[in-house]
Amino acid sequence: MAGVKIENVYKYYNKNTIAVSDFSLEIKDGEFLVLVGPSGCGKSTTLRMVAGLEEVTKGNIYIGEKNVTNMEPKDRDIAMVFQDYALYPHMSVYENMAFGLKLRKYPKDEIIQRVENAAEILGITHLFERQPRQLSGGQRQRVALGRAIVRKPQVFLMDEPLSNLDAKLRVQMRAELVKLQRKLATTTIYVTHDQTEAMTMGDRIVIMKDGFMQQAGTPEEIYHNPINLFVADFIGSPSMNFVEGSLVTEDDQVEFETDGFKIGFNSLIKLGQINEKEVILGFRPENISLDTKNKGSWSKPINCQIELIEDLGAEKILFMKAENQEFQVKLFDSNFEGKVGQSLQVYLDLSRIHIFSKDSGQKIWNAGGGR
Ligand code: ADP
Repeated sequence: MAGVKIENVYKYYNKNTIAVSDFSLEIKDGEFLVLVGPSGCGKSTTLRMVAGLEEVTKGNIYIGEKNVTNMEPKDRDIAMVFQDYALYPHMSVYENMAFGLKLRKYPKDEIIQRVENAAEILGITHLFERQPRQLSGGQRQRVALGRAIVRKPQVFLMDEPLSNLDAKLRVQMRAELVKLQRKLATTTIYVTHDQTEAMTMGDRIVIMKDGFMQQAGTPEEIYHNPINLFVADFIGSPSMNFVEGSLVTEDDQVEFETDGFKIGFNSLIKLGQINEKEVILGFRPENISLDTKNKGSWSKPINCQIELIEDLGAEKILFMKAENQEFQVKLFDSNFEGKVGQSLQVYLDLSRIHIFSKDSGQKIWNAGGGR
């Protein structure tokens, strides 16, 4: 077992393509670390550098105590699981799982034992004789995982391993993979563009954009305390609402003013605490209420109108308009009977509000502080 340390790593494919910039991260032994970000942000390149499939332009990578920066992939004691499974089409499931061990000249008995153990964990023993083309997508994915498990590597590296599965199976495999990783306690780096996968699977998440790490933290930290607009927008579904406006002082209180509404912060924000005037207010759809009955620190009412309702069964998403401002409200009340066009008052939970600089996009205040 081993952790992974990535130290000031850069990857230039050529002078104009800087895929990864000054990336540093320590992944603890046994940790499930998810690299997440939009397409092209450098997550696969980072993973492939840890695997040894891409050369590191600058910086160092350690697996356990060993500096593996210039080591061949086969000497790194890692196992990789790819999006397209990369199974050998002409080999049976058993042969696919045993192949890596045969190459490494493991004794026959040990190969049988390891393959049988892994197959049992994954529930694929009955498929041993089949060839990949005779398997469903989910079964293929299990075989690809099995092939990684039998190696008992120090680190699993997974590049969008669930992307080729249909939505329902993806959710099921997501949970299975997390349970499996907990059981094996093998350090895992998992790449995905899907924020839901990141939030539900990772012990810790790293969000990337344009080759730069934006933020690293537990799903909870990142959800409650995103450090900039990009992270705030990327994590959460539906996304956080953003409204541009100004901070003004009225009756010795700090207030946020925009052309659709105005809210005071009671004494949550002290006078002079924030220097910037032009800001972006961020509030999640789930932190808005139609009444003030529940516990919370509610803003004054905002008058708005329902433009659209998305009914998801247990919850509803209301698309609201307050003069020129638009935002979404996530309601967990399935008995809500509001109609499109109806006028309503809503209240923001002031204890869940985020304020970002309009200039830099960096967070300048949130009620939770360091939560
Ligand atoms: P992600 O996995 O986040 O989608 P990648 O790591 O694949 O992103 O790519 C990061 C950047 O590097 C992108 O701009 C991509 O076009 C570029 N890139 C990836 N692979 C190569 C390559 N082999 N040659 C040149 N540029 C590449």
